[in-house]
Amino acid sequence: MTIRRREFVTLAGAAALAGSLPRIARGADTAGVYDLERFGNARILHMTDTHAQLLPVYFREPSVNLGIGAMAGKPPHLVGRAFLERFGVRPDSADAYAFTFLDFEKAAARFGRLGGFAHLKTLIDRLRGDVGPGRSLLLDGGDLWQGTGLANTMQGADMVEAANLLGIEAMTGHWEFTYGEKALRGNLERFKGEFLAQNVFLSEEAAFNDAKAFDPASGRVFKPATIKEIGGHRVAVIGQAFPYVPIAHPKRFTPDWTFGIRDDELQKLVNTLRSSDKVDAVVLLSHNGMDVDLKLASRVSGIDVILGGHTHDAVPQPIPVTNAGGTTLVTNAGSNGKFLGVLDLELTRGKVSDARYRLLPVFSELLKPDAAMQALIEKMRGPYAAAYAEKVATADRLLYRRGNFGGTVDQLLCDALRGEFDAEIALSPGFRWGASVLPGQPVTMEDVLTETAITYPETYLLSMTGSQIKDVLEDVCDNLFNADPYYQQGGDMVRIGGVTYACAPAESVGAGSPTSSSTTAARSKPASATRWRDGLPSMSSRASPCGTCSPGICGPGRCRIGAAPASP
Ligand SMILES: [Zn+2]
Repeated sequence: MTIRRREFVTLAGAAALAGSLPRIARGADTAGVYDLERFGNARILHMTDTHAQLLPVYFREPSVNLGIGAMAGKPPHLVGRAFLERFGVRPDSADAYAFTFLDFEKAAARFGRLGGFAHLKTLIDRLRGDVGPGRSLLLDGGDLWQGTGLANTMQGADMVEAANLLGIEAMTGHWEFTYGEKALRGNLERFKGEFLAQNVFLSEEAAFNDAKAFDPASGRVFKPATIKEIGGHRVAVIGQAFPYVPIAHPKRFTPDWTFGIRDDELQKLVNTLRSSDKVDAVVLLSHNGMDVDLKLASRVSGIDVILGGHTHDAVPQPIPVTNAGGTTLVTNAGSNGKFLGVLDLELTRGKVSDARYRLLPVFSELLKPDAAMQALIEKMRGPYAAAYAEKVATADRLLYRRGNFGGTVDQLLCDALRGEFDAEIALSPGFRWGASVLPGQPVTMEDVLTETAITYPETYLLSMTGSQIKDVLEDVCDNLFNADPYYQQGGDMVRIGGVTYACAPAESVGAGSPTSSSTTAARSKPASATRWRDGLPSMSSRASPCGTCSPGICGPGRCRIGAAPASP
C-alpha cells in the first residue's frame, strides 16, 4: 500500500489532465488528487453504467474503438496513444492507466483497482462537502441495477439500497427495464431519488386500456424532467432512457411501452422548461450512447450539457457541439464505477455563463471506504459470499472484454459454450460490461457471474447455415458501425468462436464492396461470390438486436442464437 501511494504522489501528481481544462490541483500527498479548484456556484456529480459493481474492480479500456465516417479519429473513438495525445495525459501515469489499455497488467499492479461504492461514497461526500450544502446534485445515468450475480439475484434491489445511501437524486435507465415493469416499479418505490425518462410513452393499446402512466394526457410513463434548486439557481434535469430497449431486448419486458430518441418531444420539453419554468440551466441525463448524443446535440437546441452514458466511453473533456441555439457540451463518464464526472457551473439568471468539467478516476487505494456503505455491501453480500468466493480457475492471461471485435473473456465463454454443447460455432453478445481478471489471479464464481449477469440468461443450440451466420454478423456490424449514429445501439461486435471473419466497417450493407468472410466451420461461399445479404430473408438491419449492449440472444422470431452447429 505504501509503495502504491508513493507511485500516485510521483506519477498521478504530475499527470493532471491538460488541454482546455484547468489542471487538477494535486497536493503534496495523495489526498490532493481530489482537491479540486473551486469554480462556479453549482456542482453536478455524474456517475453512469456502474453495472452494479459494488466492489472495486480492474477494468481494461478498449484497444479498438472504431469511428465511422465523420466519427473517425474523434472522441470517443480514440484509444491508447492517440487518446493520451488528444487529452494531454502523460504516458505511464495513473490517469493513463485509468483511461487506456496501455501496459494494463503492469499499471494494474501499480495503481490497483478502481471504483467500489464505499470508495465512491467517500469521494462523493467530499466533493459535495467542498461546495457546501444546497450547491450540488448527484445524478446516475442508468445501467446501475445490472451486472453482477448479486444484482441479478436481488433484481436490482441491492443497487437501490446502495443508491439511496450514496444519495443519488435522479437517474434514468436501460438494463433497469429488463427486470420487467413489476420489479422496476417495486424498486422505484424504494428509490429515494427520481426516475426520469422523457422518451418512454404508453403504446396506443396500453393508453386505451388506461395503463399506469406519470402523465396520462401525454402518455409519458415516467416523469420527464425535474427542476432542482442548486446554489440559488434553477437547474432542469431531463432524463433520456436507452432509446432501443424493446429492440435490443425482448419486447416482453416492456410490452406496454414505446421508446425512441424523440428529438421533437425533447425540444418541446426544453422550450417549456426555458420559457415557462424559467430555468437557468438545462442538463440532459442521457443513456443514448455518445455518438447519438453528439448528433442529438446538433439537432436539439437549448441544452447546456449532456451527461451521457451507455457506450462506456471515458472521455476526460466535454465535446462542444454547436446548434441553432448555441453550444451544447457532450460528455460520457465511463463505466463500472471507475469514474465520477464533476461538472461545475457558473450560473447567472437564465443561463450558464461558464462551466468546468473533470472526469475523475476513482482510485480505490486513495479513498478510505465509507464505513456505512461498506457495512451495507457486506450485509447484502453476506448470504452469497461463500458461494461467490468459490475458485473455479486461475487466469493464465489477462481476461478482459472491451474492444470492438473481441476480448479474452468472450473467447473463453465461446470456447466453453462450444465444449458444453459440442457445437462447432458459438456466438455470445458483445457486451461492454464485465470486469477484468489479471494473470495469475484466481477466477471466482463471482467473476464468472460478473461476465454473464444477463437478466434473462439463456443458451440455445440450433442449426444455422453459413449464410445465416454471415447475415447475423453483418446485421450487428451494420448496427455497430452505422454511419448514422441514430441507428447505433451501442455495444460491440457479437463474439464468435469457431469462425474467423474479416469485415470492412466503412462499407455499406448490400451495396458496393461486400464484406468478406471466411468461416472455418460454417463453410459459407467465398466472399467474392456472394454478398452477405443476397438471397436471404429480410432481417431488419436497423433493428438488429444482436451483439449490442444488449444480449444477442433475443426473443422468438428474431435471431435466437446461442451455440450453433455448422450446417453447410
Ligand atoms: Zn446501456
